[in-house]
Amino acid sequence: MRKPILAGNWKMNKTRDAAIHFILEVEPKLPKDNVDVIVCAPAILLRDLVKRSEVIKVGAQNMNEHDSGAYTGEISPVMLKDTKVEYVILGHSERRAYYNETDATVNAKIKKALEFELKPIVCVGETLEQREAGKTNDVLSNQIKKAFDGVTIENPENVIIAYEPIWAIGTGKSATSKEAQDSCKYIRELLTNIFGENISSKIRILYGGSINVKNFKDIISQEDIDGGLVGGSSLKEDDFVELTKDCLY
Ligand code: PEP
Repeated sequence: MRKPILAGNWKMNKTRDAAIHFILEVEPKLPKDNVDVIVCAPAILLRDLVKRSEVIKVGAQNMNEHDSGAYTGEISPVMLKDTKVEYVILGHSERRAYYNETDATVNAKIKKALEFELKPIVCVGETLEQREAGKTNDVLSNQIKKAFDGVTIENPENVIIAYEPIWAIGTGKSATSKEAQDSCKYIRELLTNIFGENISSKIRILYGGSINVKNFKDIISQEDIDGGLVGGSSLKEDDFVELTKDCLY
């Protein structure tokens, strides 16, 4: 039995005051057990969030693959650990599209995250063009194989994959629950081929892309979908609380 996850990706949103308000408003309303609730926030907010939150676990939205050095503007795994951050999103499609993130850098970052016992949330997903050309599985296969090339997984409960079709992110057009399930099932098969069933059956696979309070229940009830990575709907306190409850269907 995999424990469900509701992970918010705030992207480049919220000031310190707004972030603290969110925690104070949301935490008392959250289910205490049976779901891992995560907020992935801008780096500058992480320390305050770690300090203030008791139920919500805190994640970063990116991480450099080096421990330290001349990488202006970057945040290292050492710094995330020092801040007591638990999770880190890697390879989000916005980072792949706007900041040159490649499968090779995602691979290096996964290795580094695991070395530092940070829990990676690894994002994969196809463009609309690729889906319409019938290439979704090829794209997922390529991304998963390259992302996990040479990676050893000792604690599969600490590795998370987010299937995020790019055409569904921030567009208001979610994948159907069947489309999401088909892709998540395929990702699990890929993981089985690489790591074996004992490991792949414990890795949590999330769906992400225009999740909202109306469509999530159907998506989370699918067999291979263990939760959601949520952008827009994670910014609104009430919606976020509702979505965590949907995880307990
Ligand atoms: C995301 O950014 O990971 C995401 C899924 O965004 P949204 O929920 O807004 O589509």
